Amino acid sequence: MRCSICGIEIDSIDEAIEGGWVPYFYDGETDHEFVCPGCSEVFLESGEDGEMEVKAEYRGKITYKDEGERKEHWVMGIMVR
Ligand SMILES: [Zn+2]
Repeated sequence: MRCSICGIEIDSIDEAIEGGWVPYFYDGETDHEFVCPGCSEVFLESGEDGEMEVKAEYRGKITYKDEGERKEHWVMGIMVR
């Protein structure tokens, strides 16, 4: 799996859990998967309902790796045609 903020990769879920990775979090209305401990410490905080969410000052300002991947696939689809 891959950190959706910095793109660092980790091999196993066990390692991620032991390492303190966050399995999912919210940026406003959007949810994202997996963030490494380094990024979660900088960008995330625990919200009122106990879910991890992006700190107010970073909301909507982070370019997510998971979104970037989707765009790359889309561009490749155009080039194939
Ligand atoms: Zn990260």
